[in-house]
Amino acid sequence: MIKLNNFPILPNDESVIGIIGGGQLGKMIALSASRAGYKTHLYCPKGDNPAETVVDKITYGQWDDYEKLVEFSNDVFCATSEFENIPSKSLELLSNQTNVVPSSLVFRCAQIRSKEKEMALKSGFNTPKWFLIKNTDDLISSIKNISKEGILKTNSLGYDGKGQIKIDKNSNFFEAWENLGSVECVLEEKLEFKREISLMYFKSLDGSEGFFPLSENYHENGILKKTTAPTNLDSNIEFDIKTKAKKLAQNLNLFGVLAIELFELLDGSIVFNEIAPRPHNSFHWTLNGCNVSQFDILVRTICGLPVKDVECNGKWEMTNLIGQDVNNISMYEDQNYILHIYGKKNVKPSRKMGHFNKNIS
Ligand code: ADP
Ligand code: MG
Repeated sequence: MIKLNNFPILPNDESVIGIIGGGQLGKMIALSASRAGYKTHLYCPKGDNPAETVVDKITYGQWDDYEKLVEFSNDVFCATSEFENIPSKSLELLSNQTNVVPSSLVFRCAQIRSKEKEMALKSGFNTPKWFLIKNTDDLISSIKNISKEGILKTNSLGYDGKGQIKIDKNSNFFEAWENLGSVECVLEEKLEFKREISLMYFKSLDGSEGFFPLSENYHENGILKKTTAPTNLDSNIEFDIKTKAKKLAQNLNLFGVLAIELFELLDGSIVFNEIAPRPHNSFHWTLNGCNVSQFDILVRTICGLPVKDVECNGKWEMTNLIGQDVNNISMYEDQNYILHIYGKKNVKPSRKMGHFNKNIS
């Protein structure tokens, strides 16, 4: 392991940032790191990994290949994971070898819905009414406490709306439970919301911290379709959720970046949905809308460079290109669209293939 105890870490040939996960987030982290002068080393299984083309070095390995993970960690001064579902054991092992930012503990919390909800409640947020479901008996008794419709979500491993189904008192509980793989779940009240909002907090290893302006999000079938930012929110409410976000980050002893997904209800109150301790799709607009993007900020935080609240230049809209959206010729012809195409080889119906940002102010 290369031991660099004094922050900030300045860019030079020894300053190799380890990136775990070869997806588009890994690619964009690597591009920011490279622009800032840092070398990058990617760890991921072999496959259709868009980050491969922009990193300095690659170690191919499975998520639980401890030997390969140790080999990888010996070459980097820190590691950050773009892949939220990395087994927490693997991150723990890496933590013994190198500086993992955000920490394995933060990832563990984000990976388990019941844990992140408990942590959110402890930090002052409200959550939808929810119940831990270990078997169909739990489901049958808990559904009685849900007023209209509920959402049954696997307690871990869900993403982009996968691993969840709507459910009500008339549903076939056994079928619902089986469809989710008969694993531990949470049952949540389905909320009627005005809109979805996300927040991004960050803290550098030097102790400085800040926020990006808030994002407003539109989902289709559980997948983010569009984000507009910055969002106008009552300044007292904004102050309140930022205070709670900081508390949550403190409770997790977080360094790096932390995205928090929230619902704004019809009465204006805010309810916590989930956290993600990594760059978040709803902040891809920062690539063009701010002088520093969420990827630049992540790099600064893990190198111990100072950070502060980020301001944006006007109003921005980010649209995800999902599946065949990426082959829409007219989008390539309109020069107001700032395209970010990930370079994935296989187009699949619900796969995120790229996004475009557009200034709308
Ligand atoms: P994922 O990990 O797949 O992002 P989420 O819990 O964020 O899972 O759910 C995906 C989307 O489903 C949310 O962004 C929201 O649009 C909708 N959703 C999730 N939970 C609720 C809820 N309790 N009430 C209403 N809509 C919800
Ligand atoms: Mg989500």
